[in-house]
This record gives sequence, C-alpha cells and structure tokens, in this order.
Amino acid sequence: MRALVIEDEARIASFLEYGLTAEGFTVEIADNGRDGLDLARSREYDVVILDLMLPKLTGEEVLRQLRGQGFPVPVIVLTAKDAVLDRVDNLNAGADDYLVKPFSFAELLARIRARMRVGADAATTGSVITHGPLRLDLPRRRVWRDDVEVALTNREFALLEVFLRHPGQVLSQPQLLDLVWGYGHDPGSNVAEVYVSYLRRKLGADVIETVRGGGYRSAEFR
Ligand code: CA
Repeated sequence: MRALVIEDEARIASFLEYGLTAEGFTVEIADNGRDGLDLARSREYDVVILDLMLPKLTGEEVLRQLRGQGFPVPVIVLTAKDAVLDRVDNLNAGADDYLVKPFSFAELLARIRARMRVGADAATTGSVITHGPLRLDLPRRRVWRDDVEVALTNREFALLEVFLRHPGQVLSQPQLLDLVWGYGHDPGSNVAEVYVSYLRRKLGADVIETVRGGGYRSAEFR
C-alpha cells in the first residue's frame, strides 16, 4: 500500500511517516502543495493525507485540482482546530474525510481503514484482533470479552487496540499518549492511567498489567 503525505510541518510529517510505515505503507512526503499535486498526479497511491495550510499551493487548491481531474484516490484532510466552517467546505470540495489537529495516529488509521476497507494485509491491518478472551472488530468498533459484548468509547477502543497490537509489550504512559492521544498532548498528563482504569473496569482487571517502573502491557492469558 502506498500513502502520500502532503504536509509542510516536519514534526507531523515524520509522525505520520513513522506510523504509516509501521502499518505496512510505503510513504512519500511532499512539503508543499505544488510538489504534492505533482506527485499525486504522477504516481499511484492508495491514500493521500493532505494538510490545508501549505506553502506554494494550499491544500484546498490541491484538492480542487485533483478532484477536477477525476482523481479517484481517498483524500483525508488535516485541518486546524478552529476551522469548523472550513471542514464543511473541504468535504464539499472532495475530501473523503478530515481530521482536526491535533489528532492521534489511531484516529487517522481508523479513517484510512474506513476509506480503504483495508483487509488485505491481515498481519497488521486485519479487521478482527483476538487476544485471549478479547475480540475486537475494527471496522465496526465492537469489543467482546468471552463472547459478551462490551461498550467502549472511541478513546477506550483506541487504547485497547494499541495494547492488543503490541501484545505483551511494555508501553509507557508517554508512548500511550503519542499513540492514542496524539503528538500534541501534554506529556505530563495522567490521562492514559485514567483510561487504563476504565478498560479494567469494563473488561476485567486482569486485561492490562501494571509494570513496575512505569508502564502497562496486555495480559498474556495463558
Ligand atoms: Ca501546514
């Protein structure tokens, strides 16, 4: 799978490149709208991630030109926090979906999956993850423990997904913040700890182990 990231902010571009590469994508980055448009036209991609505030050519203009030429590839737009009205315009202009900055990688991946109906690479992007008594249906965002369905919020679901994608691996609070809450989150926040407690309450205290010295990991369920 190939992804084109059109984003001038190096920190966000590398955050996306890192995450998408880990998910099995081949990633190309354009740091301005003109290069992004040229690349999008000349290569075959499975998805395009498009920032709006870009030098040389704005994201809106890139989108209009691509759609004007019948560009068939899903485009997910990255938009600033307060640009609520712009979002409607973006969808009208041909964006398939949008994410408001700051966003987490888990959120982006969920949007990409929804757009691509990914299922080809079962090892990393399969639509169902099972781990011991737990089962996650990713496209439908549903969770079962011992075949009993458990209702989770989107954030709880994203956190559980991260644990089950890294079975047995120790994940520190800063890592969880990056993966679930996104690069813009306060690194001192204890929100990951709070959400681990939510997951334990809903799914059973044994699903996530606290590791001495800091961090958590999914239980082994032997
Ligand atoms: Ca930008």
